[in-house]
Amino acid sequence: MADDAHAAHAPWKRTAAAAGLVDAEGQARPTIFAEMSALAAEHGAINLGQGFPDDDGPAEVLEAAVEAIRGGINQYPPGRGFADLRHAVAEHQQRFYGLDVNPESGVLVTAGATEAIAASLLAFAGPGDEVITFEPYYDAYAAVIGLSGARQVTVRLQSPDFQPVPAEIDAAFSDRTRLVVLNSPHNPTGSILEREHIERIVALAAKHDAVIVSDEVYEHLVYDGRRHVPVAAAAGAAERTLTVSSAAKTFSVTGWKIGWVTGPAALIDAVIAVKQWLTYVNGAPFQGAVATGLRMPDEFFDELRATLQRRRDLLAAGLIDAGFSIAPTAGSYFIVAEPPAALSLGDAATSARALALDPGVVSIPLSAFGRSDGGVSQTALRFAFCKPDDAIAEAARRLQTLRR
Ligand code: PMP
Ligand code: GLN
Repeated sequence: MADDAHAAHAPWKRTAAAAGLVDAEGQARPTIFAEMSALAAEHGAINLGQGFPDDDGPAEVLEAAVEAIRGGINQYPPGRGFADLRHAVAEHQQRFYGLDVNPESGVLVTAGATEAIAASLLAFAGPGDEVITFEPYYDAYAAVIGLSGARQVTVRLQSPDFQPVPAEIDAAFSDRTRLVVLNSPHNPTGSILEREHIERIVALAAKHDAVIVSDEVYEHLVYDGRRHVPVAAAAGAAERTLTVSSAAKTFSVTGWKIGWVTGPAALIDAVIAVKQWLTYVNGAPFQGAVATGLRMPDEFFDELRATLQRRRDLLAAGLIDAGFSIAPTAGSYFIVAEPPAALSLGDAATSARALALDPGVVSIPLSAFGRSDGGVSQTALRFAFCKPDDAIAEAARRLQTLRR
């Protein structure tokens, strides 16, 4: 078998191969986001694929980072992150959600949400363990679960509203369940996990003594008057939940890679034990700037939400005009859409590449967020609306030409 031959010749790549992170030749597979962004750049297409904003974040936040660099905040910060940021994170959880977080023992600053997720998974899951994710899932979860050696167990989110079926949640838990990864608002579908499901998951996690990792990076991107409610706010959840978030989406600084994880001291200590060997510490001059951002007045957060909601509506209308059928987006940066069947574009991986070339609009195949047998639509595309109005309008205009 190719895998065995490969492993025999390159034993140092065995872990990556087992986790599906390299191709048959042992080359690293680029992420779907990197691949589609490269295609956008190559063909001058409008990039509604990888979720990053074109606009800069708030001037106060950017200025604070510049001042920090000029002011000499350029050496290793403390292992848990600067106290100022840890306190700002705790204040933020109290201000928006009424959650008590201990800034000394209950907050860890990480290299983006990505490292918070990776360190949490590696801290609690290993060979013989099971980790539950909801499918479609953000691709990094599967990659890191693979690296940990644990087994990924998935629960389908059913279109069009992308909620799970209670019986399937029950069936996913076993005595081997060590972790449950939740993500709401959800990438890629834009759904918000209903309260009844969260309560069910918390009760099952308690029964099986599993830890919940709740990825809440889109916490401030919740639309139509709804408000984000963290998983840790559910009854009985706080004692077993690690809540992950990041500056990337809230302050439009995806390149800074400042994230954090909050939770009970014992769980945070376990995550630190891994994090300190991954990156040790990260992003000294950005940490104070993110603290500034977290303390911004309510108007900033309201305006961010209003802007993104307007852009969601603009993209939704444009996709509908182009003949796509769309799933409702309650939060996040994303709309999931099925291309018109009459276009006969083929599977999503094929159609996303074809649309990048003509009419020049990049999206992400939804199938990249799941396994081929996991019930994820093999034709749907994910479009990001964290882009200027004129880019969204032009993308819509281009897609509409397909029907003429
Ligand atoms: N989780 C989800 C659901 C995401 O969409 C992303 C991408 N922004 C991340 C984690 C990674 O966040 P970061 O860039 O802060 O590492
Ligand atoms: N979270 C971003 C998205 O879903 C991409 C992050 C990445 O490129 N890994 O589009």
